[in-house]
Amino acid sequence: MSGRIVFDGKACDVESLAMEVMARCQTLARFSEDAGSIRRTFLSPPMHDCHREITSWVAPLRANSRVDAAGNLRIVHPAATPDAPRLLIGSHLDTVPNAGAYDGILGVVLAITLLSAVRDRDLPFAIEVIGFSEEEGVRFDTPFIGSRALVGKLDDEILNRQDAQGISIREAIEKFGLNPAEIAQAAMREDVLGYIEFHIEQGPMLESAGLPLGAVEAIAGQSRLEFTFVGRANHAGTTPMNLRHDAVAAAAEWITTVERHAQNTSGLVATVGAIQAKPGATNVIAAEARLSLDVRHRSDEARNAAVDRFVRQAEDIATRRGLRARSNVLLDQSAVPMDPFLVTQVEQAIGHAGCEPYRMVSGAGHDAMILAAKVPAAMIFLRTPGGISHDPAESVEVGDVAKAIECGLHLLEQLASSSEFQRKIKHA
Ligand SMILES: [Zn+2]
Repeated sequence: MSGRIVFDGKACDVESLAMEVMARCQTLARFSEDAGSIRRTFLSPPMHDCHREITSWVAPLRANSRVDAAGNLRIVHPAATPDAPRLLIGSHLDTVPNAGAYDGILGVVLAITLLSAVRDRDLPFAIEVIGFSEEEGVRFDTPFIGSRALVGKLDDEILNRQDAQGISIREAIEKFGLNPAEIAQAAMREDVLGYIEFHIEQGPMLESAGLPLGAVEAIAGQSRLEFTFVGRANHAGTTPMNLRHDAVAAAAEWITTVERHAQNTSGLVATVGAIQAKPGATNVIAAEARLSLDVRHRSDEARNAAVDRFVRQAEDIATRRGLRARSNVLLDQSAVPMDPFLVTQVEQAIGHAGCEPYRMVSGAGHDAMILAAKVPAAMIFLRTPGGISHDPAESVEVGDVAKAIECGLHLLEQLASSSEFQRKIKHA
């Protein structure tokens, strides 16, 4: 455990701050659309309660709170000078259905704690804490609604998308009491220095390395494809094995080649997560097999090479078996590197918090990926027990949260005194 650290000449009890952070995450977990489990989708009524609660925490600070037209909670703690640039720290406040208490939420609550810890400090930059309204993509099949607004990418096409009840994003915004005509004002200012996001890892890497914190250096790119093997249906009893054109057997052979290649390629993950057979009867050789493929890597070149290889292999297997193979790209999202300067600063802050610095790649998408298009961005991952997330069993250790707070305080201190960051401040 971390005990007390001296920050800005004052002793700071990080353990009790960490316990408060966890208790606050549990408090926000009570604001749910479902009784007995956590679900808080984009601008659902419980998001009002969530905003009200967080705003009450910052009321004693000299911070300004508002909810922008995209439903993001924005809390600005001013700097010594009124025209100082801003550092953004945040994560998302929405959840998946049957969620845990920490995915996204922890990053917002932790940022509030950092804000409180530096409240009497005249930093050379203002701090804006952002609780993004939407990251998970649950209600509208459209992720990152909140962060898209900050980078000016929440356009009419997206605003017109509808949920299962036929309510558009635009209507949801109005129903929440906000004005979609003011979306443009939700865009971040030109003088933003960077964006920092704390988030649970949602994977097993830190736990297996025995480390509480990781510096994310890139968010992996992602390809999603649909594959179809087309063979010929026939009787399962009367057709000899050498005269078959079995689409499921071809698909199965291909799946194992995909898995083997990913196992033997450093940093590559490839998943066939869905398979559908037609006609889909016990006594009929399948005429068609339709499969999904998800491929991720930090290097776009490596990811694209893997995708090309998987397409070729599907065609080769189909040809050898007298079938046809088709593929269709559904998503081709580039990898997003985090800002090298900020990553190095995060790494140093992790070291100053008494932890071994550890660099890692995020396999999942995050708001930082959207903001990185406009401003330098960095993420700090917290160890996730069992690698479990998007589940009520999602958890985090209080000692790890304490380390994250220490890391955050050191990071702010480093940035406030870094000559390189000062130059960025001057140019902002
Ligand atoms: Zn998240």
